[in-house]
Amino acid sequence: MSRIAIVGAGQSGLPLAFGLLEKGYEVTVVTNRTPTDIRQGSIMSSQCIFDPALQIERDLHINDWDDVCPPVEGIAYTVPHPQDPTAKAIDWSARLHKPAQSVDQRVKMAAWLEKLEAQGGQVLIQNVGVPELEALTQNHDLVLLSAGKGDVVRLFERDATRSPFDKPQRALALTQIHGLEPKPDYSRVSFNLLPGIGEYFVFPAYTLSGPCDIMVFEGVPGGPLDFWRDVHSPQEHLAASRRFLDTYLPWEGARARHVELTDSKSVLAGAFAPTVRKPVLTLPSGRLVFGMGDAVCVNDPITGQGSNNATKAAKVYLDAILAHGDQPYTRGWMEQTFEAFWDYARWVVEWTNSLLTPPPPQALKLLGAANQSPALASFLANGFNHPPAYFPAWHDMQAAERLIQEHQPATAAT
Ligand SMILES: Cc1cc2nc3c(=O)[nH]c(=O)nc-3n(C[C@H](O)[C@H](O)[C@H](O)COP(=O)(O)OP(=O)(O)OC[C@H]3O[C@@H](n4cnc5c(N)ncnc54)[C@H](O)[C@@H]3O)c2cc1C
Repeated sequence: MSRIAIVGAGQSGLPLAFGLLEKGYEVTVVTNRTPTDIRQGSIMSSQCIFDPALQIERDLHINDWDDVCPPVEGIAYTVPHPQDPTAKAIDWSARLHKPAQSVDQRVKMAAWLEKLEAQGGQVLIQNVGVPELEALTQNHDLVLLSAGKGDVVRLFERDATRSPFDKPQRALALTQIHGLEPKPDYSRVSFNLLPGIGEYFVFPAYTLSGPCDIMVFEGVPGGPLDFWRDVHSPQEHLAASRRFLDTYLPWEGARARHVELTDSKSVLAGAFAPTVRKPVLTLPSGRLVFGMGDAVCVNDPITGQGSNNATKAAKVYLDAILAHGDQPYTRGWMEQTFEAFWDYARWVVEWTNSLLTPPPPQALKLLGAANQSPALASFLANGFNHPPAYFPAWHDMQAAERLIQEHQPATAAT
């Protein structure tokens, strides 16, 4: 049975580690933070995970927060009216067929690391660079690098053909809070799209201090939502979040009137370029390292797909490793395994990237038509579970019109 090393204890590395451990593999996870470091650190993500990826966690018996994490039961889209910002041009919501869930990665990754070690996985705390990768490849049959947005992932070559952007497309910020006014009927991701300014979305989550909500801000560079570099403390961050909502999204500002930060580390601001990388790294020794998760396919969070992709990548890789038996892990096998994942992920990347530039007319047509069609709204909401379902409509006007037609509300009999 193979010895496998996984660098990075995140949303892709740990599910893969649990899956391999369960099948009797010898698994070493090498990561640069202890569970205590993780719990005492800052929030890292808004990590909303939809049902198909949650099912992968359930199948691995690592779904440890189902009883405490508030469900995310639907998706809503709102676009303010261009002439009257207090009114809404697009405004619909629909239930997800099965709920999504967001467990603060500080809670989840810390607990998973401890659980992995308790189940017999080896955990090494080490900041991994080339010398450590060389050492790992000497002692293991396969070394995976799933170090998220860590600097080490730049060792993988950027795939220019799959990466249309070479700089960040949004100034990102998270504000995790208690005290947000809930939606009256069902909980949801409330997406607000402000053309030319950016996006704001908010949804329930679970953190160190219990149920909470998490606000995600996506500012177009140079626009009025690109101010986070001037914010110097968590309290200023909260105040700036509220000020923005009161000014640009008054209905969201009203919900946030009484919010407080969940803790002193519950804010985040930053930016990165969405990037796809070549999945195989050749070390100076000639030995190979295989990339997984954000390390080789990092998306802007605008569509909330990164954790979903990371989990689905772990599942594709797990199945490929199990099917491979005792054969050597060649470059060809790695490339083939990544392409199997890419068959799915390319649609996530295309959909996500399309929302970072002015959306194509057929996408706007679909979002607008959902205002009049609950069936279309339901289709679009549930696409978050499986974004390939949006295609070809998302990039083809005729297909979009067909989809709208298929979801036409039944006309009332006269
Ligand atoms: C603002 C924001 C909001 C987001 N919201 C969502 C959302 O709502 N839904 C969603 O699905 N996704 C979301 N994401 C994306 C999601 O968080 C990531 O895609 C996901 O965590 C990627 O998993 P991963 O395993 O590839 O990397 P990570 O989960 O980032 O794990 C990387 C691991 O590698 C370790 N590491 C890094 N460098 C080294 C090193 N040199 N040596 C050893 N270990 C190292 C880290 O400590 C960590 O354990 C969001 C991201 C951001 C930034």
